[in-house]
Amino acid sequence: MVQLSTGDMLREAKTSGTEMGNKVAAIMDAGELVTDEIVIGLIEEKLDQGGNGFIFDGFPRTLGQADALGALLVAKGQTLDVVVELQVNDEVLVDRIVGRAAEAVAAGGTARADDNAESLKVRLMEYYKKTSPLIGYYYAKDMLKGVDGLGAIDEVHSEISGILDR
Ligand code: AMP
Repeated sequence: MVQLSTGDMLREAKTSGTEMGNKVAAIMDAGELVTDEIVIGLIEEKLDQGGNGFIFDGFPRTLGQADALGALLVAKGQTLDVVVELQVNDEVLVDRIVGRAAEAVAAGGTARADDNAESLKVRLMEYYKKTSPLIGYYYAKDMLKGVDGLGAIDEVHSEISGILDR
């Protein structure tokens, strides 16, 4: 399957200095969501490339994106099989992200521009305001599967693999 991460695509656009990348850089660094129009455009461009299907990663993040994805898939004669919600409490999430930033610096690299306490607060707020309604949206469509994201990497991996195999 082809993994489509809108975060990765946007970071790539940012580093390569495309017009769109420059436009979204400050928004991303502050931890806000970029517009639906931009991310839907990115996904639409890739939808013809999935031989054996897609794993959408970090997308959709708003109800508008979810509706747009549904419409795009209908137009292509494809279906969304399952939506995986990785469940992690906020405190652990903050610790992990602060840890990820420290590890990147310790390894001689640079931390993600949005992996800092200030942007993190905005990212969490964006999640609660705009993304969390998708849990009810996909639950009502009978597509939602919750996975405990607090376990070890191999445990989370095998739980997700099990869901995809079914
Ligand atoms: P991520 O790598 O998934 O944590 O995304 C990093 C940042 O990219 C987010 O904080 C947003 O600014 C932007 N972004 C990624 N995916 C989306 C999306 N589906 N909708 C809006 N903004 C997004």
